Amino acid sequence: MSEATNYQPETLAVRAGQQRSQFGEHAEALYLTSSFVFESAAQAARRFSGEEEGNVYARFSNPTVSMFEERLAALEGAEDCVATASGMSAIMALVLAHLKQGDHIVASNSLFGATVQLFSNILARTGITTSFVPATDPAAWAAAIRPETRLFFLETPSNPLTEIADIRALAAIAHERGILVAVDNCFCTPILQKPLALGADLVVHSATKYIDGQGRVLGGAVCGPKKLTEEVFKYLRTAGPTLSAFNAWVLLKGLETLQLRVEAQSANAARLAAWLEAHPKVARVYYPGLASHPQHALAKTQQKSGGAIVSFEVRGGRPEAWGVVDHCRLLSITANLGDVKTTITHPASTTHGRISPEARAAAGIGEGLLRIAVGLEAQADLQADLDRGLSLIGA
Ligand SMILES: *Cc1c(COP(=O)(O)O)cnc(C)c1O
Repeated sequence: MSEATNYQPETLAVRAGQQRSQFGEHAEALYLTSSFVFESAAQAARRFSGEEEGNVYARFSNPTVSMFEERLAALEGAEDCVATASGMSAIMALVLAHLKQGDHIVASNSLFGATVQLFSNILARTGITTSFVPATDPAAWAAAIRPETRLFFLETPSNPLTEIADIRALAAIAHERGILVAVDNCFCTPILQKPLALGADLVVHSATKYIDGQGRVLGGAVCGPKKLTEEVFKYLRTAGPTLSAFNAWVLLKGLETLQLRVEAQSANAARLAAWLEAHPKVARVYYPGLASHPQHALAKTQQKSGGAIVSFEVRGGRPEAWGVVDHCRLLSITANLGDVKTTITHPASTTHGRISPEARAAAGIGEGLLRIAVGLEAQADLQADLDRGLSLIGA
């Protein structure tokens, strides 16, 4: 499908990137092979030198992985995409491909927990330092810039409080100083938000979440212009955290239904958020699709809907929040998100359990907070499951 750019997203999701072999298979083939055979010594030499395009070794490329990369790039509106073994290896590859010892990152202070650990512990040891600033305050990002700042890194909406970072405003600040902007687009996926079109330079994904959508495999990706992804590719080819062909095949099939799932899960989440907001045992709901969200207006200018993550505070603290979780028979008590099966977590004792209570309170993650990643179950069943525990609060 060479004329990919002319097609609508629905078409790209099921058609972009497909390459058929001599056997004419209709579904995309899984090429479970670690190396590729050359016709002659001369061809091997040309492939190794890069003089001739083609596969060499699966750490460099694999046709199933290439199909996934091309399809995701088409959906993100990116010139190129490089797939990785996980979301974390995508972030690691992006940083190590573009930054060196002495360089500095400005990042949102409400990032995925492992990203915070990567920046503040592992990368700090290599001499790449990070300043964390509030996602919602562009002036704080501008003030944190140093002569050695090379990267702005953000997630929007944030986890678990669904804060919205203004991608256009942050890109304008960064580009004035020649700083790259990378957005972790895991929560919205290209179906709801296209960071590159809003001014970001690079997009990273944990494909483990919505792109798989059925909780099976780990995967990640970096999307952007070829001049930037080329460096990421060179890092991966040497350092090795490439996506496996099997995982690529699962994720490639996941992309085919991504739009249907994300739109249906978002609509389900919007209804659940409105129901929670009206519930007498709920103190506060965090959902960008609600008019009560402090950045509802900004969210509407950069994402197509509120997404499928809803957080809320119960009236009470840890015992009441745990009561809601423990009375769920349907919702899965698990930290994964993006699955068609709805999941529930208590951030203060799980994903954010290792930060000090003071830092947690400063970040607004209270003991009564719960996060739900809404799936495809019937709305009435989700409400009944949550109401079982909610109705007991204060009873
Ligand atoms: C899960 C997640 C990651 C890490 O992805 P893995 O595939 O688990 O390595 C990064 N960013 C966000 C926002 C995530 O939710």
